[in-house]
Amino acid sequence: MDLYEYQARQLLEKEDIPIPAALYARSSHEVAQAVESIGLPCVIKGQVKIGHRGQAGGVLLADTLDDAILDSEKILPMTIHGHKVNGVLVTEAKNIIHEYYVSISLDRASRDYDVLATVHGGTEVEDIAHNHPEDVKRLHINPLEDFDLEAATTMAKEIGFYHADVDQAAEILLKMWKVFKETDATLVEINPLAKIGNPDDESSKRLCALDAKISLDNNAAFRHPEWSEFIDAQNADPLEARAQKHGLHYVRLDGQVGVIGNGAGLVMSSLDAVAGAGEPSAASSLAIKPANFLDIGGGASADVMAESLDIVASDPHVSSILINVYGGLTSCKTVAQGILGAVESNGLTNPLVVRFDGNEATEGLQLLANANNPHIHVSDTMEDAAASAVSVAREWNGASDSTASTTERN
Ligand code: GDP
Ligand code: MN
Repeated sequence: MDLYEYQARQLLEKEDIPIPAALYARSSHEVAQAVESIGLPCVIKGQVKIGHRGQAGGVLLADTLDDAILDSEKILPMTIHGHKVNGVLVTEAKNIIHEYYVSISLDRASRDYDVLATVHGGTEVEDIAHNHPEDVKRLHINPLEDFDLEAATTMAKEIGFYHADVDQAAEILLKMWKVFKETDATLVEINPLAKIGNPDDESSKRLCALDAKISLDNNAAFRHPEWSEFIDAQNADPLEARAQKHGLHYVRLDGQVGVIGNGAGLVMSSLDAVAGAGEPSAASSLAIKPANFLDIGGGASADVMAESLDIVASDPHVSSILINVYGGLTSCKTVAQGILGAVESNGLTNPLVVRFDGNEATEGLQLLANANNPHIHVSDTMEDAAASAVSVAREWNGASDSTASTTERN
């Protein structure tokens, strides 16, 4: 789970990592209130779970209250790299003397923790990594050894923190490690870790975390009930939430053909097959695309299949549904029972296109044939099934000419 900056800051603050004062605001009215308490100048920062907000115009410096309000009115409605802005953070503006970059992440390859750092942090950090790889240090924290102040100090020196900053940097590295370990994070990144203060007053200078990115390890959620406050109720998709409750991997997309399969690879191929078959052509200018990704996993029961169909069909944009199952652990016969259960008990009326192969495929197809249901179609190959699901979706959407629009049906 990725956190917003305003949430990540809370975790840094618990370990006393220095951060600027800030308040979260959802409207320009709340921004005005926040500025009252934070003071001026301030920075208005769009909250999205993606970096490079600054370059996209999502981080603006305001010298006056009016500017702060205008800035927030610009940022609040923004979508940055496909992510809708979820509120803004109003932070006190600091005078930046220098920007460092420091992150700690899990390194699955070397089975330890990577500290990635450069003395050239800030918004251009990727360019630095590309053009001056020698300036980017990759150091390791051995999970079996103690990472203490001494080790952190050695590391701060190796990273190349300027002499006066080494002690503070070491302290911050050690605290970042505590945050990483104690919150079961997979990433703790501070960029910029800024040296702030008055350039003419040595005693005013210190390091401060002006931006933070934290990802938490979902596998550890069971021991962190406090994470519930991080769950993004505003942005959560109700169908994704329902699927998650049933242990299903469901991702909502924006097309019209529901896709269900077993195994992530097979489902991905099915999405590609639908997207390929659904490209606009001379016959129809409407692109037909996959409406979702849903992996029922291995050894799925009839109930899991029925629940999956119900979730997929609950998306009002879904017309036809492609079910592509390669039976291994999963029996196609069981899947067929689930399909029939969903059609008969739940009154599902969407056209279904089924392709079975492998374990009990013949038995499964026989069950479907016996049901003699006009909504259930069968195909031999994934390509045929995709083409068939697309053509049914086209009919359903009544879109054989370019002027037709999508008809809402349930
Ligand atoms: P990002 O673009 O999503 O990484 O957002 P950041 O929070 O890192 O902000 C981008 C840039 O805005 C930083 O690298 C800084 O150069 C600048 N910035 C952020 N906060 C301040 C501040 O308090 N004072 C000044 N002068 N610049 C800031
Ligand atoms: Mn940043």
